[in-house]
Amino acid sequence: MEKYICITCGTQYPASSHPPEECVICEEERQYVPPAGQQWTTLEKMQQSGTYSNHFVEEQKGLKSVTTSPEFGIGQTVYIVEEQGFRLLWDCMVYIDDQTITLLNEEGGLDAIALSHPHYYTTQVEWAEAFNCPIYIHEDDQEWVQQSSDRIIYWSGESLELSEGLTLYRLGGHFDGGSVLHWVKSDGEAVLLTGDIIQVAADRQWVSFMYSYPNMIPLPAETVRNIALKLKPLKFSELYNAFHREVSGQADIAVQRSAERYAAALEGRLF
Ligand SMILES: [Zn+2]
Ligand SMILES: [Zn+2]
Repeated sequence: MEKYICITCGTQYPASSHPPEECVICEEERQYVPPAGQQWTTLEKMQQSGTYSNHFVEEQKGLKSVTTSPEFGIGQTVYIVEEQGFRLLWDCMVYIDDQTITLLNEEGGLDAIALSHPHYYTTQVEWAEAFNCPIYIHEDDQEWVQQSSDRIIYWSGESLELSEGLTLYRLGGHFDGGSVLHWVKSDGEAVLLTGDIIQVAADRQWVSFMYSYPNMIPLPAETVRNIALKLKPLKFSELYNAFHREVSGQADIAVQRSAERYAAALEGRLF
């Protein structure tokens, strides 16, 4: 019995004797099955290959990014946010090995894992077991969870404070339960971590919002206005997405401005 992992998106499936018939995430219209077809691996195979390693970069005090090299699956960057001694893994990545566990344990382990949306539901149960911590997932995306575990806490409503200075906000859009992390530092400055619920544009003064990024399906203007409305009360100077892009300085204003431009483009008022 193996816990098969989809090579395209990184979703890990419950133990089975054969790979799943299909990957429900890849088959869904927000993702895709590559032209060569569906392929599978396992975490053990990845570890034994000696090909992969995780890399940690201190982005700023209290914030480390983690990426796998070479890139695997969707290739997301995840973050470890530390505020007042509470250590949160924001979003999840497929690859985890003994070196990763040892390194993180030397820094104080993990107190919780929180996920923005189903595209980063991967080996979170392996991570949670390695660090003996809970996983927070919005209940509106429960149907996309493949690996059930009593470590998963399905939260509901529009926000959840995980610890002082670390609060999840459900914005919806890309997925119904799509959530972001608002991190208010002890010096009063704040950062928004968005996965791809909000995407940083090539021009780093702007962000965007999509139903599907790979298949280029936009969101309705009204949905994007609602996302902007939910964020309006929040102050944050910086924003980090899941692909190592950052808006530096007045990121809260950049989100509001970008939502207005997006709605104007969809409604034929921009050009
Ligand atoms: Zn997949
Ligand atoms: Zn996504």
